[in-house]
Amino acid sequence: MGHSPPPAASPTPYRAGVTDRTSGAPQRPDAAFAGLPAAVAAALEGEAAARDADGAFPAASFQALQGAGLLTAPLPASLGGRDVGGEALLRLLRQIGRASLAVGRVYEGHVNALGLIQRYGTPAQLARAARDAHAGELFGVWNTEDGPGLRLVRAAEGLTLTGGKTFASGLGHVTRPLLPAEAEGGRVMVLLPTGREPGTPDHAFWQPLGMRATVSGRVDYTGAQVREEDLIGQPGDYYRQPEFGGGALRFLAVQLGGADAVVASARAVLRGLGRAGDDVQRLRFAEVAVRLEAAWQLTREAQRRMDALPDGADPAPLLAYVALARTATEDACLLAAEAAERAVGARGLLAPWPTERLLRDLRMYLRQPAPDAARLAVGAWLLDAPEDRNSPWEEG
Ligand SMILES: Cc1cc2nc3c(=O)[nH]c(=O)nc-3n(C[C@H](O)[C@H](O)[C@H](O)COP(=O)(O)OP(=O)(O)OC[C@H]3O[C@@H](n4cnc5c(N)ncnc54)[C@H](O)[C@@H]3O)c2cc1C
Repeated sequence: MGHSPPPAASPTPYRAGVTDRTSGAPQRPDAAFAGLPAAVAAALEGEAAARDADGAFPAASFQALQGAGLLTAPLPASLGGRDVGGEALLRLLRQIGRASLAVGRVYEGHVNALGLIQRYGTPAQLARAARDAHAGELFGVWNTEDGPGLRLVRAAEGLTLTGGKTFASGLGHVTRPLLPAEAEGGRVMVLLPTGREPGTPDHAFWQPLGMRATVSGRVDYTGAQVREEDLIGQPGDYYRQPEFGGGALRFLAVQLGGADAVVASARAVLRGLGRAGDDVQRLRFAEVAVRLEAAWQLTREAQRRMDALPDGADPAPLLAYVALARTATEDACLLAAEAAERAVGARGLLAPWPTERLLRDLRMYLRQPAPDAARLAVGAWLLDAPEDRNSPWEEG
């Protein structure tokens, strides 16, 4: 992979994460948005252990998010939202991830789906989605599949689905799943209300190490009828760059929140044991602090570059930077997990200390698609860099 010419300077100073890139209409996020209210964070934290234990969906947490207007916060103000995107959205995702990684994962899917509808849907589809989100309907994006995956077939009697999805977070609770499916012209997005087409769920699929409360089962849609109005955007839109690759920044923010929780719980254990002042622990967590903060700054910077990227610009430099943030975040979170395990020891890994649950959740949620491909992209970007650059990561 060679380096492409740098993109021209952006005429747009800031764009919310769900801005319609194709319309060119700049949006400003709600400057008064204060992030996750403490009471909502407490509600999420309060429910997390019980839902890990019983494997049920954290419904009370989502009621709290809805009550705080956070299910609609990423929508434009014209549709009753707060234009929360860009770095403000990353901060919110990190806060939610810290309070409950399982809720953070499902909320990230909700935000992703609304962003895809805003970017590629018609005004009528977006207005309907906004009404639904205000009414408390939960959105998600179920892309992962095994075997032949989900296909949309056009026949004389209409549009029909065959196949299904795996890792469908919020199965039975997400009521507006967005389902990428292979069709004749390419991959299409099908927004299928579960009230009309619920699919056949398989909850036995979900026996995970952690993140149990995401209820991420398998679902079969064979025979489900699709209407033309259920199709969002054009074939190929789902994989359009830089939005597809750049979407990783959202899960990085959630993961970093999960690492925050692990570190905070380890600190509480150390304080309880009177060991927070030990030099060994301080050295251990100094390394963690450097890595986590570096990963967060890379994630923020990648978001800034994405928001500033002009329409039609080569996305390759940005995607290499996103891969850099992904690699740094995976390494930082794994280091945080290992440091916490070493610091608290076996007795700190017993319930009711929350550390063991938080570690299981973090280690599970760190498994995101093609991590080694991201690492390879980072190495390739550096080793293929032109000689005249101080750093392969500098802009321009
Ligand atoms: C809690 C949780 C909730 C989730 N919820 C959702 C959801 O709601 N919607 C959704 O769509 N998905 C969801 N997912 C799935 C997620 O987005 C990823 O697809 C999944 O976690 C990646 O699985 P993996 O670790 O097996 O990744 P992989 O990409 O398969 O990586 C595993 C290993 O395979 C290697 N590998 C990957 N690709 C190749 C290749 N082509 N050739 C050779 N080696 C390769 C990698 O290097 C790595 O070593 C969820 C996952 C989790 C953990």
